[in-house]
Amino acid sequence: MEQHVRKHLTFLTFIWNKLWPNTVSADRPSQGYFDPEPVALRPDLEPNPVLPSSSLFSALYDFRARSAEELSVSQGDKLCILKEEGEYVLARRLTGEPALGYIPANYVTRINEETSQQPWYFRGISRNEAQQLLLSPPNQHGSFLIRDSESSQGEYSLSVRNHAKVSHFRICKGPDGGLYIQKGCPFPNLEELLTFYTVNWKVVQSPLLQPCIPKTPLVRDAWERPRSEFILRRKLGEGYFGEVWEGLWKNMVPVAIKIIKQADMKAEDFTKEIQNLKRLKHERLIQLHAVCSVGEPLYIVTELMRKGNLQSYLSSLEGRALSTLHLISIACQVADGMTYLEEQHIVHRDLAARNILVGDNLTCKIADFGLARLLKDDIYSTSGSTKIPVKWTAPEVANYRTYSLKSDVWSYGILLYEVFTYGQTPYEGMTNQETIQQISMGYRLPRPSTCPPEIYGVMLECWKGNAEERPTFLALREKLCSIYRRLHNSLS
Ligand code: AMP
Repeated sequence: MEQHVRKHLTFLTFIWNKLWPNTVSADRPSQGYFDPEPVALRPDLEPNPVLPSSSLFSALYDFRARSAEELSVSQGDKLCILKEEGEYVLARRLTGEPALGYIPANYVTRINEETSQQPWYFRGISRNEAQQLLLSPPNQHGSFLIRDSESSQGEYSLSVRNHAKVSHFRICKGPDGGLYIQKGCPFPNLEELLTFYTVNWKVVQSPLLQPCIPKTPLVRDAWERPRSEFILRRKLGEGYFGEVWEGLWKNMVPVAIKIIKQADMKAEDFTKEIQNLKRLKHERLIQLHAVCSVGEPLYIVTELMRKGNLQSYLSSLEGRALSTLHLISIACQVADGMTYLEEQHIVHRDLAARNILVGDNLTCKIADFGLARLLKDDIYSTSGSTKIPVKWTAPEVANYRTYSLKSDVWSYGILLYEVFTYGQTPYEGMTNQETIQQISMGYRLPRPSTCPPEIYGVMLECWKGNAEERPTFLALREKLCSIYRRLHNSLS
């Protein structure tokens, strides 16, 4: 039973995981949903050779693979570096499931002794860098680190911050290998030396309160890709932000490339928003692969969803053949993705079937989250422009531009209407102005003939005039998925 439902109802993985929590690993993508990269694109997984300790490294930061060639690692993962290629290294993961792929070279550090594991040990940084790091937030009074001495190989230095000043102390190595700051007071290792000076801190002029916190390297380095790596093959469509093309990354990986017209964008907001896109990862959200922001036009490269946007898909031959159960599954998937955005406190601002993309096996993913914010105010405004999606917009947004997760919930109700009418435009025959007027007088879209009354009840909840009374996405997800389960059981 479990295997059967998991195989055939993959979009409800989160429910199956709740029902049978022990049978899937938490971070495994739901089978059948992710279109797995062709195996041939992955570097071969060879058996683990016996490795010289000099090739053993540890991951300094989390890194998420953006293509089949790359390797996802978590901070602290043990790695074997097989070769260096420019700013990347080919690594084999030694912790967890074995895997092979490229990661940025500045995300790894060599492990050659126990000390390397210590949070206070900073390999390969200079006195000046240590000083700058200790003086920048979130480091504070009492932050300290031990680094390799620049002038004497095999020796170390202790750098410690006392309010706005950093002091450095040479840690010498005696002929017997003992480490000392003060002659005649040696320790067998750095751990014991630090324990002593944590108590006797006056010698080092500042209490040793907390190990220095490292700076995350600029993410831009890892996401930014040269434009030459991408080939545009076929125009897929055009949206507010510019054209979208199907393309190939490094002649191998199919991707979607959004070509942004920068003239339509608040440039200073772009960097901030892209950071958001990089941070968000969920199987119901379109995954960002790369960015080309050096020169113009700007490319935003994402995973390719072969069946295009949900609105067109629903009105296609294939879409029109979908059953009510299929339609509810679409509603559940979107609610699942929105629940994740809700947890992350991200407001979508333009939730609509046109911004949901469809892949194989009726996989639905949310696109363009947060991007609406990038549009210049004069384009994306209520006054004098047709570009505001009035028919999807909650009254408080149309009237006061107060976007919130609750205004997204309103839009989700309209999206449900689109789904259960197989892609019909809401409020057909009404102008935007008439729609705003009618809504303010209490009018709501009628129940589509193909829509179960219970689902229409959910729509009406989403369209409560008082935003606070609308449900959360979490509640919507639970409700729709229980409707799905019930209907599914009654059919089988
Ligand atoms: P947008 O600018 O996001 O509204 O995109 C315009 C159109 O391009 C959409 O309606 C889709 O049909 C298509 N499109 C956008 N992103 C993708 C993608 N990742 N995969 C496939 N088609 C896409």
